[in-house]
Amino acid sequence: TCHHSSQEKHRCHFGPCPPCHQPCQKVLEKCGHLCPISCHDQALVKQTGRHQLSGPWEQPAEPAFIQTALPCPPCQVPIPVECLGKHEVSPLPCHAVGPYSCKRLCGRMLNCQNHTCTKECHKVTEVDGCPGRHKAGPECLQCEEGCSKSRPAGCPHPCVLPCHPGKCPPCVQMLRIKCHCKITNLYVECRKITTADVSEKNLLSCCKNQCPKELPCGHRCKEMCHPGECPYNCNQKVKLRCPCKRIKRELPCNKIRGNQVSVECDAACKEMKRKASEIKEAEANAALEEEKRRQQAELEAFENRLKGRRKKNRKRDEVAVQLSPWQKYKSYLFPVCGVVVAVLVWYICHHAD
Ligand SMILES: [Zn+2]
Ligand SMILES: [Zn+2]
Ligand SMILES: [Zn+2]
Ligand SMILES: [Zn+2]
Ligand SMILES: [Zn+2]
Ligand SMILES: [Zn+2]
Ligand SMILES: [Zn+2]
Ligand SMILES: [Zn+2]
Repeated sequence: TCHHSSQEKHRCHFGPCPPCHQPCQKVLEKCGHLCPISCHDQALVKQTGRHQLSGPWEQPAEPAFIQTALPCPPCQVPIPVECLGKHEVSPLPCHAVGPYSCKRLCGRMLNCQNHTCTKECHKVTEVDGCPGRHKAGPECLQCEEGCSKSRPAGCPHPCVLPCHPGKCPPCVQMLRIKCHCKITNLYVECRKITTADVSEKNLLSCCKNQCPKELPCGHRCKEMCHPGECPYNCNQKVKLRCPCKRIKRELPCNKIRGNQVSVECDAACKEMKRKASEIKEAEANAALEEEKRRQQAELEAFENRLKGRRKKNRKRDEVAVQLSPWQKYKSYLFPVCGVVVAVLVWYICHHAD
């Protein structure tokens, strides 16, 4: 007899009824499902290992079957179950329902927002109550990489943070740059340079000293340290003099180069020149007069000496000496020659200017 209240209908027969084949339908204790297999209250179970053969002479007995009630087998009702990492939902037999790993990579985004968890599908505790299939939990890996975001153009420094979400913090390292004139080293905060536009960059690269370059005119560039070519409008004051050096004018270098400015002598210059030549002429005349007087004096002294000797001679032998024409005039020859030479000198000096 089984737990079923009624027997299946079957033909009238001799002996005991055939075994019950109705579905068990007992409510399973663990899950509440009904046992689906055919009634197992009077199952025939083979008896084994009960009887040990006492010797080789003993024939093994015919297998003995006994009728007994078997417990309901494990429930096989398929139940959809989600894996630990919430990657999939798969049907599991009811008795085996429980947390399981689908063996996929976890793949949840780590806090760095750059990398995902590479552990095998695992339990993830929802921390802040927002259930997400993509957010890492405390069981996920911790990113230990350095920041691998690209640096701003011109920044040679690494990011100071480990792998992090969002933008890198501005770089506060100092950058050494050469100024426009390549003489001074400037130290500028890296972020200032990397965020500056062209004009700001030019300003940051200026050492504030006078440009050291030489302009084509030979003067030094007057601009403050600047990029590119020197502007060529030199305003260095240049002194110009008139030909006689009396008038002095100061003009900016670029004016002079532009249109060949020259300083001409004025009326005052000419007047001064005239006076100067007059003085020179007067001096020459005076020198000539002086020379004439000197020669005259020399002539007179000579004549006097000559007269004195003649008197002496007359006293000695009372003979008048007749002088030849050469002797008579040779004393005049020297002063006359002197005068001619002086006139010649005066003439040359006067007309040489
Ligand atoms: Zn039954
Ligand atoms: Zn059953
Ligand atoms: Zn079940
Ligand atoms: Zn999974
Ligand atoms: Zn990372
Ligand atoms: Zn994970
Ligand atoms: Zn960074
Ligand atoms: Zn310059």
